[in-house]
Amino acid sequence: MLGLMQNQPLLISALIDFAERHHGDAEIVSRRVEGDIHRYTYRDVARRSRQVARALDRAGVGFGERVATLAWNGYRHLELYFGVSGSGRVLHTINPRLHPEQIAWIANHAEDQVLCFDMSFLPIMQAIHAKCGTVKRWVALCDADKLPADTGIPNLVSYESWIGAEPADYTWPQFDENTASSMCYTSGTTGNPKAALYSHRSTILHAYAAALPDVMCLSARDAILPVVPMFHVNAWGIPYSAALTGAKLVFPGPALDGKSVYELMEAERVTYAAGVPTVWQMLLGHMKPNGLRFSTLKRTVIGGSACPPAMITAFKDDYGVEVLHAWGMTEMSPLGTLCTLKNKHLVLPESEQMKIRLKQGRAIFGVDMKIVDAEGKELPWDGKTSGDLLVKGPWIIREYFKGEGGDPLVDGWFPTGDVATIDADGYMQITDRSKDVIKSGGEWISSIDVENIAMAHPAVQMAACIGMKHPKWDERPIIVVVKKPGAELTRDELLAFYEGKIAKWQIPDDVVFVDAIPLGATGKMLKTKLRELLKDYRLPGV
Ligand code: AMP
Repeated sequence: MLGLMQNQPLLISALIDFAERHHGDAEIVSRRVEGDIHRYTYRDVARRSRQVARALDRAGVGFGERVATLAWNGYRHLELYFGVSGSGRVLHTINPRLHPEQIAWIANHAEDQVLCFDMSFLPIMQAIHAKCGTVKRWVALCDADKLPADTGIPNLVSYESWIGAEPADYTWPQFDENTASSMCYTSGTTGNPKAALYSHRSTILHAYAAALPDVMCLSARDAILPVVPMFHVNAWGIPYSAALTGAKLVFPGPALDGKSVYELMEAERVTYAAGVPTVWQMLLGHMKPNGLRFSTLKRTVIGGSACPPAMITAFKDDYGVEVLHAWGMTEMSPLGTLCTLKNKHLVLPESEQMKIRLKQGRAIFGVDMKIVDAEGKELPWDGKTSGDLLVKGPWIIREYFKGEGGDPLVDGWFPTGDVATIDADGYMQITDRSKDVIKSGGEWISSIDVENIAMAHPAVQMAACIGMKHPKWDERPIIVVVKKPGAELTRDELLAFYEGKIAKWQIPDDVVFVDAIPLGATGKMLKTKLRELLKDYRLPGV
């Protein structure tokens, strides 16, 4: 017997309809590429995303066809989020930090029909437009008078003239909630990128889950600043969850330096921010020497790579801001776990609470996880045994776009490529990417643990731990370090800093000082590149 409840598809258009009706006057504030601040409301987002839908109709872009964006976090990008997906097309967010050749490859693979870009990326578009054979219409996200006449790109129009001519009366189409809504290529470091193809259903379920109190805890009283880019896994789903709750949104545009982010946070009374550790490092690096304080910021969700303990402590003790450590990936829409304490933890001493806060957290309802050994046998949740982490759930991919890479699942579970422990309370802790784990004398050393200790040293700006071939031990860890500007630190001082913090055999064999550690397009350390750069390096005594 079937239930007798209304069978309404879960569609992204409903989010913006809801935000317009119930939070029509809530603000969306953006720092534009032009440098100025733009301010309007959900009512305006709704109106203009309907104009986007109409412009796509007029351009003859079919249902399910891809519309790409190459854009910073901003209000026009938000309108495309709703206008493209809401009208049944697929929003393809492209990471502008990728190599231009890779951008062209991705646009062709996705068969993008329209490509909308911020003016900061005009030179990239000029370089690659001729290679993007499927793109019929180029849209510069700017006013008509900001578009130069001689760009050399055919069929190029300014966004404002493109949507400005369209009426705003448009009825969102109704269709199957399993229809594709948006796509994002993984920042995979080997081979060609592969795309996760999200659906309306997966996006709405994720938006509900992300807003829950023990997840991101979002409400109409929040002003959210997503520093995490809208071109990478839909800014962790924040644009959708914000519309679902009616929260104010504050977009930083291209200005991600500590000073600009701080000033925007203060001016717009931001209560909640989200980003990767490298961005917060820049923010804290600006605040400390200038003696600045937050007047409204309460919580910040940090993920994308492991959050160093020193950062959690700095936010909490120096600024009274709670850090929520989160883990996920492109293939997971992205949220998998989030770290909030349970009631029984609140009575624990601060040092014990800190051990929990450092973990990546508990699974969100909707995400099942397990750890397995090399034979696929499930491992215990004892907080000590580590194994390959597998997940499943309604916002986790079943396969990649166009079936690239074949069937990724193992008995219905998606292998994340991460190595983790899970404790008896269900708190998961990533110890490594499986390819970064250091195998020394048959034991595993967590590169994240080794990095976290270095990051706690006051002279260290960034640290990467990698394994080096060793004739006896198979591999031994070294720590590659970027010093803070003007800071003094020797190899022996840093190695001495490890004493008593981890087992002796886990302490790195050497310290290599460098000017910079290569970062990937999403701000993660590129250890493959680092290994290449250090290919002539030899361990001491080897
Ligand atoms: P991406 O798909 O580019 O977002 O990358 C996902 C990967 O980033 C995960 O599989 C993890 O290896 C890593 N990652 C994400 N969040 C965290 C975190 N909080 N701690 C450690 N690694 C993380």
